[in-house]
Amino acid sequence: MAKLPHVVIVGAGFGGLAATRGLRRVDVDVTIVDRNNYHLFQPLLYQVASGLLDPSAIASPVRTIVRRSPNVDVLRAEVTGVDLAQRRVITSAETLDYDYLVIASGSETDYFGNEDARQRSTGLKDLSEALGLRSQLLGCFERATLTADADARRRLLTFAVVGAGPTGVEYSGAVAELIKHVLPKDYRRIDFTEVSVVLIEAGDRVLATFAPRLGRLAERSLQRKGVRIILGRSVRGVDDQGIVLDSGERVETSTVVWTAGVRATTPLDLEGDALARSRRVKVTPELNLSSHPEVFVIGDAAAFEQAGAVLPMLAPVAIQGGKYVGKAIAARLKAQESPPFHYHDKGTMATVGRGAAVAQIGPIHIDGLVGWFIWIFVHLLYLVGFRNRALALWSWAWNYFFWDRPVRLIISASDDR
Ligand SMILES: Cc1cc2nc3c(=O)[nH]c(=O)nc-3n(C[C@H](O)[C@H](O)[C@H](O)COP(=O)(O)OP(=O)(O)OC[C@H]3O[C@@H](n4cnc5c(N)ncnc54)[C@H](O)[C@@H]3O)c2cc1C
Repeated sequence: MAKLPHVVIVGAGFGGLAATRGLRRVDVDVTIVDRNNYHLFQPLLYQVASGLLDPSAIASPVRTIVRRSPNVDVLRAEVTGVDLAQRRVITSAETLDYDYLVIASGSETDYFGNEDARQRSTGLKDLSEALGLRSQLLGCFERATLTADADARRRLLTFAVVGAGPTGVEYSGAVAELIKHVLPKDYRRIDFTEVSVVLIEAGDRVLATFAPRLGRLAERSLQRKGVRIILGRSVRGVDDQGIVLDSGERVETSTVVWTAGVRATTPLDLEGDALARSRRVKVTPELNLSSHPEVFVIGDAAAFEQAGAVLPMLAPVAIQGGKYVGKAIAARLKAQESPPFHYHDKGTMATVGRGAAVAQIGPIHIDGLVGWFIWIFVHLLYLVGFRNRALALWSWAWNYFFWDRPVRLIISASDDR
C-alpha cells in the first residue's frame, strides 16, 4: 500500500488540536507533538491559580482527545528544531520526516528583557506556574500567621500583578475575592486590613483592547473588590523586597505575577524580516511560510494581517487557523487551490470576578451578570470533554452560591520563596 502523506503538527494547543480534527477524515498520517501529554485550556489558568478549579478540569490528555482518530499518532517530546530543507522535525525523542508541517507552538511570557522580573516573578502560562502561584499565595498567608515583624507581614500579604490586560484583570479580581470572602474564615489570626492586591499597568487604562467604557467598568469593579490600581507606571525592577516602578515608588511584596505580555515561541530558526512584533512568524494569506508552502504557522505563533492589523493572540484565532489548515491540506492533496484564510471575529470577553464580566461582540458591549452568563456559555463550549465542562460548571455554581474556593491546597515547593 502506498505511503500516505505525513503531516506533523507541533503543539497540541487550540490551533494544533483544531488542525488535527480537521485532518481526521483526510488521507494523511498525522503526528501531533507536544512537550506535555495534555491539552491545556489556558483561559482558565487563573482559576487554578486562585483555588477555584482543579487542574484536571482545564487539561485533557491528548491521547484521549485523539483516540477516535485512527490516522493520528501522538508524540510527547520537545521539538528542538526544524530542518526546512530536508523536511524534518527534530525532537528530544526522534526525528520526524514530513510532507506538511503545522507549527502551532503558541507563545511564552514576555518579560521584555527585564531579567530581574523574569527571575523574581511568576508568569501565568502553564499549569506548573498556576499551581505554583496557588501555593505561593496560600504559603504567604501561612507564613504571615507566624511573622511578628509588621513590615515582613505586610510584604507577605501584598500581591502584585503586573499588566492589566484580560489575564491580569481576571487574576487580580479572583485573588481579591478570595481574600475578601474566603480566606478570612481560614486565617483568623490575620488582620485583613493588612492584605492587598495591587494591579500595575504601564498604559493609561485597564483592558486596553476593549472599548474604553468596558475598561472603566472593569476598573471600578476591581476597585470595589479592594484592588489598588496603578496606571501609567511601568516596572523598572524587581528585587527581594518587591517592585520598583519607573517613578521610583516601591511596592513591597513577596509575590509578583507577570501578565504584562507574551511573545511567540517556535522551533523555526527565523530572525529579522521573517518575524513580526512579539517574534510572531510572518505568514502568507494561506498561513504558509512564503519560502516553504508546505509549512503552515497558526495561532499565537503566526503574524497574520487582516484589514491592516495583525490578528490578536486569542484562542479563536488559533482554532480557526487550525480548521483552515485541515481544509487547505485536504485541498492540496486533490490539487485544488484554497481561498485565503479569513478570521471571523466573534468577540472578546473577560471576567471581573464572580458574577461579572465584560464582553465585546462587534458593536455590542455587555457587562455584569449577563456578560458573565455569556462568558460561562462560551467557555463551556470551548472546554474539551463533558467531564471538564461539568467540573467547571459545578465549581462556578459552588463558588457563586457559597463564596468558596475549594482547591486551597499547598502542594508546590514554590511557596518557600
Ligand atoms: C492566562 C491566559 C488567559 C487567556 N485567556 C484567553 C481568553 O479569555 N480568550 C482567548 O481567546 N484567549 C485567551 N488566551 C490566549 C489563548 O490561550 C491563546 O491565544 C491560545 O492558547 C493560542 O493557541 P495556540 O494553539 O497558538 O497555542 P497554545 O494553545 O499555547 O498551544 C501551544 C502548544 O505547543 C506546545 N509547545 C510549544 N513549544 C513546543 C516545543 N518546542 N516542543 C513541544 N511542544 C511545544 C505547548 O506545550 C502547547 O501545548 C489566554 C492565555 C493565557 C495564558
